Amino acid sequence: MSRCALCDELQKGKHVAYIGKHSFILVNLRLLKPGHVLVLPKRHLEAFDELTEEEAKEIFDVVEKCSHAINKVYSHYPIIVVNPKTKRSESHIHIHLVPTDYGARDYIAKIENLPYNEEAPSEIREIVREEIAKAMEEG
Ligand SMILES: [Zn+2]
Repeated sequence: MSRCALCDELQKGKHVAYIGKHSFILVNLRLLKPGHVLVLPKRHLEAFDELTEEEAKEIFDVVEKCSHAINKVYSHYPIIVVNPKTKRSESHIHIHLVPTDYGARDYIAKIENLPYNEEAPSEIREIVREEIAKAMEEG
């Protein structure tokens, strides 16, 4: 018995575009546009730090190869998005690839109505650096 809808999709295989040793490519159920796929581990994992090194390497290799495949078919490289756990529709970790002419900055700036190409003041960047460095140390 499968643990989630994404595990079910792997078992059914109908919408699976590629199967590797540890990972697979699934055409997304809620397709934003043709070429929107997910790259994900075969194992039902709910956090990226649960991946073995071998699984993680394969997943990044598959993301890279799939990006080229998407560009070959749809003439655009994909934006690559990983949702935080709280925003995932399925707990099974996955990486979205969506072919587009835009980059992550374009989308985030538009969605959050942020200035697109303004250079951040050095003081702001320093505050962010300190906050992230502290949080990383705390684990
Ligand atoms: Zn699963």
